[in-house]
Amino acid sequence: MKITYYGTAAGEAWPGVFCDCELCRQARKLGGKNIRTRSQALINDDLLLDLPPDNYLHTLYYGLKLDSVRTLLFTHSHSDHCYPQDLELLREPFSHTYPGEMQVYGNDAVERKVLAACRSLGGERERFSFHRVMPNGTVRSGAYTITALRAAHAKDESCLFYHIAQENKSVLYAHDTGAFSDENFGTLAKLTHPLSLVSLDCTLQSHRDGKNHMGLADAAEQKDLLLRKGLANEKTVFVVNHFSHNGGWLHEEISAAAASCGMLASYDGMSITI
Ligand SMILES: [Zn+2]
Ligand SMILES: [Zn+2]
Ligand SMILES: [Zn+2]
Repeated sequence: MKITYYGTAAGEAWPGVFCDCELCRQARKLGGKNIRTRSQALINDDLLLDLPPDNYLHTLYYGLKLDSVRTLLFTHSHSDHCYPQDLELLREPFSHTYPGEMQVYGNDAVERKVLAACRSLGGERERFSFHRVMPNGTVRSGAYTITALRAAHAKDESCLFYHIAQENKSVLYAHDTGAFSDENFGTLAKLTHPLSLVSLDCTLQSHRDGKNHMGLADAAEQKDLLLRKGLANEKTVFVVNHFSHNGGWLHEEISAAAASCGMLASYDGMSITI
C-alpha cells in the first residue's frame, strides 16, 4: 500500500492565497517543501482523498494521474477539500478516456455541493456515482474496505475521516479533525489494526487545539493513545499533515519537531510505501 501527499496545507494554502505575512514571505523566498497546496492524497494509484482547488495543479506539476482513480473519498465540504466542479470534466465530451464510473463518497453537505456543481457545462451523462456515508459506516470499493469516522471539526456538517484497509494493511487518514473521541477509538478497535500508517492533523503546529484541529502536541497525544490501546505498534508510520501559516513553523522546523515525537512531517509530493 502506498500513500502520496499532493497537498499538505490548511485552507489558505501556504503561502496564503491572499497573505504576505512573514511566514508566507519566507515560504515564497525559500520555495521547495515550504510551498504547500491544498489538501489531497492518493492511496496506491486508484483511491483519492479529497478534490481541492489545486487538484489540476497536482496533475500538472506533481504527476497525479486522475484517470487511474476509481474511488474518491471526501472528508467534508470545506473549500480546501471539496472543489467538485472538476467532477464535471469526467464525462464526455470533456474526457474521452476515463473508463467506467468513479465511485464518490461523502456526507450530505458534500453531496449537495457536488450535485449543484455538476450542472453547468452540459455534455453527456455523469460518469460518477455519489454514495452518502455516515460516521461509523463501512463500504467496499475496489480492493478497499473503507470506514468513515466522525471528525471533531465544523459543527454544521458531519465531517468524516477515514480508515482504509487493503488485505492486512491499513491507513488512518485523520484530516480535518481535533482529538479522537471514545467513539473513534471504539470504532478503530473493530477495524484492521495495528494500523500501518496514521496521518494526523497538525494545522496548528506549535499551538494546541484538539477541538477542531490539532497542533503537534495534540497529534503526539493521539499517537500515544493509539499505541497504548494496541491500535498502533512500533512498526506504525506516523505522519503529521495539513499545516497552516498560523502554526509558526516552516518545513525544516516542523520536520525537526515532528521527528522528536517519532513522526514524519508531510510535504507536497511525499510518497510512503507501507
Ligand atoms: Zn482543511
Ligand atoms: Zn501568511
Ligand atoms: Zn475543514
